[in-house]
Amino acid sequence: MHWSQNLRKLHVDLTSYCNAKCPACARNLNGGPTTPGLALEHFEVDVWNQLAKDTAGNIHKLFLNGNWGDPGMHPNLIEMLATFGQYHTDCDLVICTNGGMHKPEWWCELATVLKERRHRVVWSIDGIGKSHELYRRNTSYDRVIENMQAFNSAGGASEWVMTLWDHNLHEIDTVRKLAKDLGCYWLELRDSHSPEELLVTDNDKRYEYTLYTKKAKDVKSGLEILNKDQAEKFRKDLRLDFPSQTEFKCPWYNEYSVQIDPFMKVWPCCNISIYTHIKGHPMDQQFDVTTLPEDGFNDLSKQSIYEILEHPWWDITLSTAIDRAEYKVCRNSCGVR
Ligand code: SF4
Ligand code: SF4
Repeated sequence: MHWSQNLRKLHVDLTSYCNAKCPACARNLNGGPTTPGLALEHFEVDVWNQLAKDTAGNIHKLFLNGNWGDPGMHPNLIEMLATFGQYHTDCDLVICTNGGMHKPEWWCELATVLKERRHRVVWSIDGIGKSHELYRRNTSYDRVIENMQAFNSAGGASEWVMTLWDHNLHEIDTVRKLAKDLGCYWLELRDSHSPEELLVTDNDKRYEYTLYTKKAKDVKSGLEILNKDQAEKFRKDLRLDFPSQTEFKCPWYNEYSVQIDPFMKVWPCCNISIYTHIKGHPMDQQFDVTTLPEDGFNDLSKQSIYEILEHPWWDITLSTAIDRAEYKVCRNSCGVR
């Protein structure tokens, strides 16, 4: 495998800050306190600008989402996207957010920067009113809708993503209609990765309520196009210069992708990335960080992304481990055998 030559997509977790407290998210404990040991940091703008310059023209999709925070919380997000866009004119920019931060004016400004190019903002809105707020804790449904409306009216391209829970299934038709009325181009009904019963606790770790996915698991999920012309204009999924490849057992490699965390470390995927930041976290069992090379081998603040991906860990250690199914995380997350 040759990770450096393979790179075409970037998944970047721009910050470890978030305004929300979704109970299944790794950055908090069941919707309560922030996970102990999580450093609160934003991706450095200078490092970002260098990354954009170093990869100029080579990145076909930039995906801003992540394990530890919401890209909307980065104080320099708009200027960072503008810079990236200057170096990458033929690239889809995708921003996944809970949309509950900022006022509508900020979202208008974001749309102004994005509207002339392929982009989409993916809004996680899990139902109508209070139903949405049961999972997207700490966000206001009314504020999110106001922000999305402002973004769409200013020329932004939006995808409404609704995670399916037992408590919101009766709202699917209403959501579909509202998404269309508000000018979204796509609606995705998404399966929850949570267990059938998800306990939700407060900041003092006291039980509050339970969310269920028992019936939701039987409901058909998937992407729906609400506005065909605009959907084609703003999104380029099938690319001749980006052919499907299945030569390796790692789906992220086959998708030409790597993950960069808010601490500016480059990882093969979000699955491994999540096991590397908080040492001693129960989830560490899935990936043994002591097998990694010296500190800094994947630090973007010290070298370019191509220099990082030329480190023998990628093409030799990691590739062999995936091929032999040595990592538990690869077996459990990707079914590698
Ligand atoms: S919005 Fe995203 S980062 Fe924030 S708590 Fe929810 S899942 Fe986690
Ligand atoms: S968990 Fe392993 S196989 Fe799956 S995407 Fe990550 S590196 Fe690839």
